[in-house]
Amino acid sequence: MVEEFSFINWIRGRTDLDAENFPVGPGDDCAVMRVGGQLLLVTTDQCCDGVHFVLQQCGARQAGYKGMARSLSDIAAMGGEPMAAVATVAMPRGMDDSQAEQLYLGLRCAGDAFRCPIIGGDVSVWNNPLLLTVTMLGRPVAAKPILRSGAVTGDAICVTGSLGGSQVSGKHLSFTPRIEEARELVFRYPIHAMIDISDGLASDLGHICRESAAGADLWAEAIPISTEAAGREDPLAAALGDGEDYELLFTLADGDAKKLLADQPLEVPVTRIGTITAAKELHLLGKDGKVALWVETGFRHRT
Ligand SMILES: [Mg+2]
Repeated sequence: MVEEFSFINWIRGRTDLDAENFPVGPGDDCAVMRVGGQLLLVTTDQCCDGVHFVLQQCGARQAGYKGMARSLSDIAAMGGEPMAAVATVAMPRGMDDSQAEQLYLGLRCAGDAFRCPIIGGDVSVWNNPLLLTVTMLGRPVAAKPILRSGAVTGDAICVTGSLGGSQVSGKHLSFTPRIEEARELVFRYPIHAMIDISDGLASDLGHICRESAAGADLWAEAIPISTEAAGREDPLAAALGDGEDYELLFTLADGDAKKLLADQPLEVPVTRIGTITAAKELHLLGKDGKVALWVETGFRHRT
């Protein structure tokens, strides 16, 4: 089976972009290209029936909402605001007009909430489950986008909202993309690195660490655990590994984090959950001492 991240790394090894026009290529939440002196964010996300949603359970409208919201979340993760989207759908042969309309209305519901019009797309019919692909364009709200690679040793690691149990709560379908929160954070504080939590806290923090050639100490007791995850046998494991929380995970200097935590400027709480370290290892610090979640093995060429 193809392993997603090693495949992306394989592609990155074969990607040779002109950095002036394409400052960020594959491997971040969005690619970045320069158009007429402006930086443009580009992201694309697939939603497959049976993988990202179960159409029979959630309905076409919710599937459409999720398709759009996932791309919005990636724009937010770059410290961006959305500009427009194009959507492509391959519909199963049995899908009727009403379901197709609900799918579109779901896309619109998420897009309209963040002033992101759907400006085009493509529709086809096939003998397979529903496949929805949303491509979105955006722009950074500040001078530059926030990348995964910007974390600095000593940075505070912070997260919005609470984590874990998104499959049980339905948050993975109905989450609010953190567009407004990202804008507020980027305007008010010098954010160094950011990602949206799609794969899970441990995995997504791993992405920030690898891209920043750094490591992290995570404070187990500080991690905000959702109500749904709190009821589970191992709430901490759920918060670390469940994924699809679509919260923002970001780093900033210690002093700026103190100010942010005192201000609490967002509608959702911001929590500090650890510190970026120089060691290329991810550690969980808890009652049981220090547990290594991830250790970089060997030398990785960075350009
Ligand atoms: Mg992302």
